[in-house]
Amino acid sequence: MTARIIDGKTIAADLRGKVSDAVHRLRRDRGIVPGIAVVLVGEDPASSVYVRTKSKAVAEAGMHAFDRKLPAATPEAELLALIAELNADAAVNGILVQLPLPKQIDAQKVIAAIDPGKDVDGFHPINVGRLASGLPALVPCTPMGCVRLAKTVHETLAGLEAVVIGRSNIVGKPVAQLLLAENCTVTICHSKTRDLPAVCRRADLLVAAIGKPEFVRGDWIKPGATVIDVGINRVADQGNPNAGKDRIVGDVAYDEASQVAGAITPVPGGAGPMTIACLLLNTLRAACAQNALPGPPI
Ligand code: NDP
Repeated sequence: MTARIIDGKTIAADLRGKVSDAVHRLRRDRGIVPGIAVVLVGEDPASSVYVRTKSKAVAEAGMHAFDRKLPAATPEAELLALIAELNADAAVNGILVQLPLPKQIDAQKVIAAIDPGKDVDGFHPINVGRLASGLPALVPCTPMGCVRLAKTVHETLAGLEAVVIGRSNIVGKPVAQLLLAENCTVTICHSKTRDLPAVCRRADLLVAAIGKPEFVRGDWIKPGATVIDVGINRVADQGNPNAGKDRIVGDVAYDEASQVAGAITPVPGGAGPMTIACLLLNTLRAACAQNALPGPPI
């Protein structure tokens, strides 16, 4: 069997187009322009690239971007004061603080200071609790993207045996919560799981969020299963004549897995592009909620 490729790039572009149309209607009919503040502390090169990419996508969606860059030595109190200012600014519907933060700043304290209604990353304890309680919430973007990708393969996820490898607060746990909300039977695996390959072989839907290059092998996958690979790992490309070049691989050994799976996300071009598209959707939803409007049916 050769798996169908779940084209995250195209699916994300479609979602971004729908968000952009809804933003256009909101501006035309209500005079509202959703706005997001992306806060970057320090000069971490990967974070700087993410923030630039996010800001470009925000502008393309017709939203306002209120980028705030602070020096790496910023004291925690100063960042908390900025969050308070953004919480109070009606033009700012979403606040995203780029992680990781410098070591003098307690990330949990900063996340908890964000107005939960503006928490477009979905990391605030109130949103985490609402998701776990089955209440409406702003949910984390990468997990939301994973579920949307799985739904392009399965009309309904109800009843599927879902296995999530990874239990981080930003990917593994919220993916598991979202899949539970979709009525999957969910198993969460981590570094202490016994016989991980055997657990994975039960999965109709396998989500890998580990951070280890090509860790999940082809013979861990149930024939016909859907595989969502969240991993982004930079490895040296030994087969490349331009030695020294890196390439990006996922947490799943793609060549092997795609011979067994029914559908699979590539890396890059799978789960990755969905994250920003879902961030835009969250910002639009936050703007609607803050203006007492129903969320867009996207
Ligand atoms: P974390 O390092 O926070 O979590 C990794 C998880 O994998 C942990 O729960 C850990 O278990 C588990 N794990 C590690 N080793 C093993 C093992 N040998 N067997 C089973 N489980 C194991 O990573 P993140 O969740 O933040 O990210 C995971 C991957 O997803 C990374 O590659 C990251 O780059 C990528 N990512 C991609 C995004 C995107 O597409 N936009 C966004 C966010 C992340 P334990 O808890 O026991 O330590």
